[in-house]
Amino acid sequence: FSNELQRAEKMEIISELAASVAHEVRNPLQVTRGFLQLLQEKSKDKEKEYLTLALEELGRASNIITDFLTFAKPEIEQVTLLNISKEFRHIEGILIPLANFQGGKMTTDIPNDLWIRGNSSKFKQAFINMIKNSIEALNGDGQIHIWAYSKNDEVYIHIQDTGEGMNESDLARLGEPYFSNKNKGTGLGLMVTFRIIEAMHGQVVFTSEKDNGTEAVVRFPSVTPETIVPAPK
Ligand code: ADP
Ligand code: MG
Repeated sequence: FSNELQRAEKMEIISELAASVAHEVRNPLQVTRGFLQLLQEKSKDKEKEYLTLALEELGRASNIITDFLTFAKPEIEQVTLLNISKEFRHIEGILIPLANFQGGKMTTDIPNDLWIRGNSSKFKQAFINMIKNSIEALNGDGQIHIWAYSKNDEVYIHIQDTGEGMNESDLARLGEPYFSNKNKGTGLGLMVTFRIIEAMHGQVVFTSEKDNGTEAVVRFPSVTPETIVPAPK
């Protein structure tokens, strides 16, 4: 048990460190990409080829950062009351255009009165990583449906896609660092998602069928805003 705890603490430290390093590295990457793009447009032959490769690798690096830090801000993490439908309005704003662009359809059905406790940036990161996987699994055709409700003092959020699905052995490996079946995958998206959900005292269960689709069910302890006693001053 104490080994488990030590491991959990180590993972915590590693992921915090990774997040802060990634944040610092994001800007210089962006600037480098801009200059390389300028050069690439002006060059030809071998030179253009090398610059294209360099840009691709930079793209890979920034995908890794995206999986960790789409919303991260350089400030101390805040845990607040989160309204699920409000959080999902932001998530939809980013992902519905992406889904449409890639040829898929995404619909949501989330009532207004669902509340949990957590960090808004992390919550969005966790769900964006999952839903991006669903969009990618559609391969340009299919649907994603997301719905939520409360039951027995828990908030349930379902993410269902009609994408390519997974077999048993892939399912068992979800969340393992660097596990990816994609050409340009990072294999970090679900690792980040699982850690965030765990930190928010939630649970996630995936079911999937090869060629038919995947469903993730996430649960969090629910909170009723009226029952919250303000902290003493
Ligand atoms: P990445 O997306 O970079 O590959 P992830 O950790 O986000 O890394 O996902 C790991 C792997 O899990 C994916 O490569 C994919 O094979 C599988 N996967 C995750 N979500 C889904 C899904 N909704 N449908 C099918 N496969 C999925
Ligand atoms: Mg992913």
